[in-house]
Amino acid sequence: MSAAPPPLPLVWTPPRGAKPPTHLADLTIEQVGAAVVAAGHPSYRAEQLSRHYFHAGVDQELTAVPRVAREALREQFLPPLLTEVHERVADRGTTRKTLWRAFDGTLIESVLMRYPDRATICVSSQAGCGMACPFCATGQGGLNRNLSAGEIVDQVVRAAKSMRAGDLPGGPGRLSNVVFMGMGEPLANYNRVLTAIRRMLAPTPNGLGMSARGITVSTVGLVPAIHRLTDEGLALTLAVSLHAPDDELRDTLVPVNTRWPVREVLDAAWRYADVTGRRVSIEYALIRDVNDSEQRADQLGALLAGRLTHVNVIPLNPTPGSKWDASSPRAQSLFVDAVRAHGVAITVRDTRGREIDGACGQLAASVTATAPRSETALALDLAATGPTA
Ligand code: SAH
Repeated sequence: MSAAPPPLPLVWTPPRGAKPPTHLADLTIEQVGAAVVAAGHPSYRAEQLSRHYFHAGVDQELTAVPRVAREALREQFLPPLLTEVHERVADRGTTRKTLWRAFDGTLIESVLMRYPDRATICVSSQAGCGMACPFCATGQGGLNRNLSAGEIVDQVVRAAKSMRAGDLPGGPGRLSNVVFMGMGEPLANYNRVLTAIRRMLAPTPNGLGMSARGITVSTVGLVPAIHRLTDEGLALTLAVSLHAPDDELRDTLVPVNTRWPVREVLDAAWRYADVTGRRVSIEYALIRDVNDSEQRADQLGALLAGRLTHVNVIPLNPTPGSKWDASSPRAQSLFVDAVRAHGVAITVRDTRGREIDGACGQLAASVTATAPRSETALALDLAATGPTA
């Protein structure tokens, strides 16, 4: 006699390691062409599908393709990747943080910021992050999984469509910048991130036609991956999260420093600058009484003097349970002056989205951060129907 079947689970959990569905954004343009032909369609459908995905309006039908072929092509090349769970808005509507749910229930966040002269989407490259920086909310949760190229591109495509549709105050506009400063360490998901970037760069209709210098890859300093990026021949902007000029302190703030110390990270950054001609951004989250002394500013200035670089000071954004705080305005301005005294360009970044936990280091797909997996469905329902701003 067989035992009673187990009760049906309330939440469908795909097997661990299940892959996101393949989407045309995961493939090269040539691969899309070949797959279209292999599926028995004329090769020009590849271009029609790409044009539709990258450039059509949000709910626009795929009218370029005859009705009989539409469904099959959609299913094979345009499976839904990210479902909007909720959106939170700040800065009078010009900052929008979106929580997305992937095919397997994984939650990720992206933040769209509109400025008078540009619009920037801050994207996630991984669900969670394995780098464990103690001041970053994402780092506290650990790594869940890598995002597929399609899942990365989809965040950008959604933002581009939002801008075109005029969803943000200021009327219809153009998405000009992408920064890999959401959840995850982009260079730890190297191949998918590069595939995604190539689709952002590819001219219309096969991609978003963005400019390489408008795309910033931000890294904790995975040195071999920085070298690899240098040799791609793309004029992307590289940002290095330094946060301390000395190994003793950096070992504690950016744990991967024990593997690739300050000296090696900066050498790789200067090689990037030499080869690409691009100014490298040095990110420095200013933490009260931790890394904000004038002495450290002086040390930082000396390290960077004469290099093709720009320091971005990020006032520390609060994260749950952290004992750390932002520096006082006075300490911050002394720090900035001491770096500047070395002739190094330095600016303080604004803290867009802070009150919606959408600023640097605050992204944690917060809905599930505190809920065990079985409660996820409930939390999602609440999030989907609850107030969003
Ligand atoms: N993993 C990549 C990109 C993600 S974070 C990286 O580390 O560069 C983008 C930037 O926000 C990084 O410079 C990161 O160090 C910084 N950051 C993380 N937590 C922060 C916080 N609580 N306040 C201010 N900046 C933070």
